[in-house]
Amino acid sequence: MKRTAIVRCGSYDLKEVHGSLTEIIGATEFPEVAGRTVLVKPNVLSDSAPEKAITTHPAVVEALVMILKDMGAGHIIIGDSPGMQAGRFNPKASGIADVAARTGAELADFAVNPRIHQVGSLRIPMAEALDRADIVISAAKLKTHQLMYATGVIKNLFGTVPGLNKSPLHLRARKPEEFAALILAIFREAHVDYSIMDAIVGMEGPGPSNGSPREIGLLIGGANPYAIDKAEARIMGYRTVPIVSRAEEEMPGCTETEYPFLSPEEVRIDDFSRIGKGLTVGSLFLASLLSAIGIRSDRRPFPSFQHRTCRRCGKCIEVCPAKALSLTDGKVTIDKERCIRCYCCHEMCPFDAIKVK
Ligand code: SF4
Ligand code: SF4
Repeated sequence: MKRTAIVRCGSYDLKEVHGSLTEIIGATEFPEVAGRTVLVKPNVLSDSAPEKAITTHPAVVEALVMILKDMGAGHIIIGDSPGMQAGRFNPKASGIADVAARTGAELADFAVNPRIHQVGSLRIPMAEALDRADIVISAAKLKTHQLMYATGVIKNLFGTVPGLNKSPLHLRARKPEEFAALILAIFREAHVDYSIMDAIVGMEGPGPSNGSPREIGLLIGGANPYAIDKAEARIMGYRTVPIVSRAEEEMPGCTETEYPFLSPEEVRIDDFSRIGKGLTVGSLFLASLLSAIGIRSDRRPFPSFQHRTCRRCGKCIEVCPAKALSLTDGKVTIDKERCIRCYCCHEMCPFDAIKVK
């Protein structure tokens, strides 16, 4: 059984992060990297300052790259493609570009020359760097997520689908359980070998972009991504979340693990501000059962627009896969008949002008 290491790490001091990560790697099933090409996939949802807790902190990425180099990795690639990528991927504000420059790692833009992958019945463009990598490491951030309740090491690989190619996939998987299944399929297609989660400062409230930073003081790692995402959910106070629930349905026993250090129950945050507080394994099962027999049980709210805060940048209109948004009389208006409640607009609004409650 693969182990999941949860260790305390109180700051983003590079030395401290390096020490904690070394401890995690030593206690878990880390792949052999000597002489091999390693792709590190941080979460760079949008290129923003590390203090906002939207992105994997650069100190975590840097410490990981330093360890990989010490282990003799032949070539290291750091890559991603934000949802609203404008121009070439150059994540300066998040500090990720500087990590690549300092360490000599290649910075890969997943939007350049993507390769088509057959994922179930869908043909999906995915990062070319996946083809070159012998080893893939997901380096995620602990955050809430409006649709999936939590975004972790599995959902992080959705970023291998370049830029705006992500949002139309919501039309092919409209219900949360369908979207969770699609995310799992994309994750499997990426062949991830190891995962770490930056939970030193996570995000609570209306994540993954507009929530609030929350000091947690943990780093998590291991070769069982399902166990890591389950640990994340438990730390946040959920009994389960759609991606973990779906994974357990498809692969019974996949979240089984051993904790060599802390267990999620020991570090659970009782007052963590979550999304979908009432979610249980039973409610997820009931929702999919009712939908299978044609009864609509989806009570998810529609997004609402705060016109005073809105700067009319148009990003929500651009990202909406259902073409449910338009600018009418200087205000963003929503066609609820079209809206599929994917919350891409909420995720991409740079001014926190969209609420979901
Ligand atoms: S993305 Fe946000 S700020 Fe921009 S138009 Fe939409 S609601 Fe307004
Ligand atoms: S309006 Fe927002 S939630 Fe509705 S379909 Fe468009 S992007 Fe998704």
